[in-house]
Amino acid sequence: MKFADRLQNVETSAIRELFKLLGKPGIISFAGGFPDPALFDATGIAQASAAVLANNPGPVLQYGATEGYGPLREGISRFMAGKGSTVAPDGLIVTTGSQQALDLIGKCMISPGDKIIVEAPTFLATIQCFRLYGAHIIGAPIDADGVDVDRLEQLIDEHHPKLVYLIPTFGNPSGAMLSLARRKRILEIAVRTQTLVVEDDPYGELYFDAAPPPSLLALSDTVPGSREVLAHCGSFSKILSPGLRVGWMIAPPELLTKAVMCKQFSDAHTSNLTQAICAQYLTMDRLNDALAVVRKTYAERACVMAQCLQRDLADAIAFNAPQGGMFFWARLTGVNGQCANAADFAKRAIDQLVAFVPGAPFYAHDPDLTTLRLSFATADVAKIEEGIGRLKLALG
Ligand code: PMP
Repeated sequence: MKFADRLQNVETSAIRELFKLLGKPGIISFAGGFPDPALFDATGIAQASAAVLANNPGPVLQYGATEGYGPLREGISRFMAGKGSTVAPDGLIVTTGSQQALDLIGKCMISPGDKIIVEAPTFLATIQCFRLYGAHIIGAPIDADGVDVDRLEQLIDEHHPKLVYLIPTFGNPSGAMLSLARRKRILEIAVRTQTLVVEDDPYGELYFDAAPPPSLLALSDTVPGSREVLAHCGSFSKILSPGLRVGWMIAPPELLTKAVMCKQFSDAHTSNLTQAICAQYLTMDRLNDALAVVRKTYAERACVMAQCLQRDLADAIAFNAPQGGMFFWARLTGVNGQCANAADFAKRAIDQLVAFVPGAPFYAHDPDLTTLRLSFATADVAKIEEGIGRLKLALG
């Protein structure tokens, strides 16, 4: 078949190949990017669904507005106000997961050859999605405080990118949290250079001890002109359930208008039924309690993973313990002649029935082959202890 030229820019991810091995019996997986299904508030979602279908089911089973279901846009507006961001219901659109918001941004903003700056490393699906639109992607280095802002500023001044894509809070895969000072500077740079910054924030609610600094969106009120160069993507996937496929995008009106037009040609609108379930759920006063359980569980798992890595692999693996989210980002140090290639290590780990994702695919270019991502979200404490022990065996 003669496929479109744009498909030449992308390939299926190496991670998918690895995932085929995860079905091996007895495997302990730190590889996935999924939340723990045991933590889904199925009772609350069932009550919300029943209420939605009992009271006037017609509109939610009917076609709906591309911009989103009205009561949900209002609910998201209130939810964002609780996080320090003022957004009118018509200042946001509902999307089919935040993944669709990223796709719509790609569709609306990227012409073949346009330069885009992302963190190195960043969310793989964003790299692939933006490449499909022909983006030339440039990676900006990060450390434990998130993206290196001096370097980012240099790259923006040098390349004049169409947009900068960032996951400031508990990044995937980095787990890093961008400091408050860097957040403010990024907004200032965006205004000075008139560069669109896309803030992807699916993990901000999953903090362990203390809430992270305000999002770029929340801070935009303090930096004049920054709201006009900022898009923010949110999602219910990590706070309620990814199967609902409900996310949102907040952006300047002209971008929202174009995104709505493109969404209309694509899926017409996000499922009204799942939107209504989310809207109903938000009115039920359950989210805070459900989130408290998620935060406590992930905090405990992250703490155990840090302790086990320190105990069993301190000389072989360097890492920064995350303060929220779902991931450890780590680096093989190769000391004492131990393995320093994460892809080789991943194969040896599978032989020991433990899985993780090598870090290389998360780089748009010049991958650091020593890096790896470990998710602590779905393994319980006993599995984490056992799995890290198996990683030690795999190192040899
Ligand atoms: N952005 C990031 C950084 C993610 O990690 C994910 C999902 N893992 C998404 C966006 C997409 O999430 P969803 O479409 O389920 O909202």
